[in-house]
Amino acid sequence: MFKDNLRIIKIFPETIVDGAGLRYSIYLAGCAHRCPGCHNPESWNPNHGMPLTREWLNKIIQNIRSNPMLDGVTFSGGDPFFYPQSLIELLKIIKIETKQNIWCYTGWTLEELLAAPERRACLQYIDTLVDGRFLLDKLSHNLKFCGSSNQRIIHLGQLDLTQPGQPVTLNRLSL
Ligand code: SF4
Repeated sequence: MFKDNLRIIKIFPETIVDGAGLRYSIYLAGCAHRCPGCHNPESWNPNHGMPLTREWLNKIIQNIRSNPMLDGVTFSGGDPFFYPQSLIELLKIIKIETKQNIWCYTGWTLEELLAAPERRACLQYIDTLVDGRFLLDKLSHNLKFCGSSNQRIIHLGQLDLTQPGQPVTLNRLSL
């Protein structure tokens, strides 16, 4: 179904820790960042978890649609951008089929994503990005939805993805 073998490590059908409001969280396998102090090093392995089949995806869509309490869907991992060509397909399907607000966590910075065409293309389906590697020396337990203070919560709504040379204006989420 997808170009790469997307695998899901875990799903939380209702969580309040992966973004604003009540969210359906999907954790994808695979991460190349290897941040020291990562809370989930087994998620680095792209063969971890279970393969995402069409049947499973249909069930996920059905579960999201049938929960009127949800405020959105969150992708985490691992790093969901590990397989960008497949991530864009998955994001597109979830966005079109559920119309939910989408948050996505990644170890890349927004600037790094913008500089890589395949990863940049994924941003069109993401409403809010939580970016940056986890840095142990910037660890903070007081941050909402982030593990270290270098990580940013960025609204992508006003970013013009058709203008590659344009300076990026970041809209921070006020929490
Ligand atoms: S980006 Fe996230 S999953 Fe990947 S190594 Fe860093 S903390 Fe762990």
